Amino acid sequence: MEPVKLKKSEKYDVKICANCFRHEFKGKWIETPVIDEAVYDMIEQRFKNAKKVELFIPEHKKNPGVFFEAEATVDNKFIVPVKIEYTICKYCSKMLGQAFNGILQLRNPTQEIKQFVKEELKKAFSKGFHCIKEDEVQNGVDYMMTDAQFTRNLGKKLQNVFGGELVETAKLVSRSKQTSKDLYRITVLFRLPKFKKGDIVNYKGREFKVINFSKKVYVEDVETKKKEQINYKDIR
Ligand SMILES: [Zn+2]
Repeated sequence: MEPVKLKKSEKYDVKICANCFRHEFKGKWIETPVIDEAVYDMIEQRFKNAKKVELFIPEHKKNPGVFFEAEATVDNKFIVPVKIEYTICKYCSKMLGQAFNGILQLRNPTQEIKQFVKEELKKAFSKGFHCIKEDEVQNGVDYMMTDAQFTRNLGKKLQNVFGGELVETAKLVSRSKQTSKDLYRITVLFRLPKFKKGDIVNYKGREFKVINFSKKVYVEDVETKKKEQINYKDIR
């Protein structure tokens, strides 16, 4: 027998914190090891004797404001529509405020670089640094972080590992009332160049071969074989 699809009016909403991944259950925010557990909790309230619950959760981003529909089949009898919403829980909103102190801007990132940042963010989480928000922008991603120094270090790490342009700017955003200290917001831009090792680039009207790049670009004059170190911005 085909499973019956439940009406959408029967509500199965799962709210998950995009920061700590707690989910709201019976008016409380409780730990969620994986999103599946959060959905099971919800389903089990209605289908207490369910033996087999299968979930179909589409791929999604885990950012506050992300909202989508998933489905669960219960004992092959019912198809249950489940609304999943990412938000920031009351604990995290208290801890994070709405403030962020560092922005990491990745430009022209490869998949490998994005993965690297993801791993670093995972490690940072256990030390109490967070990425509050992740924005896809043209040519890259912006990450809003709770810690300026962490943002700065991550930029340096990216440059060490992948090579690329690193530009750091600080902007005065406010003066703390408690400490009367000035608060700066750091923006760290990491841009992967469009050229690769071995490419020929134009600099001061001459052709240069790219030998290597890290903090600077190491090039060799195609004609004279003379080597030079130049800045990224000089060959854009
Ligand atoms: Zn949270």
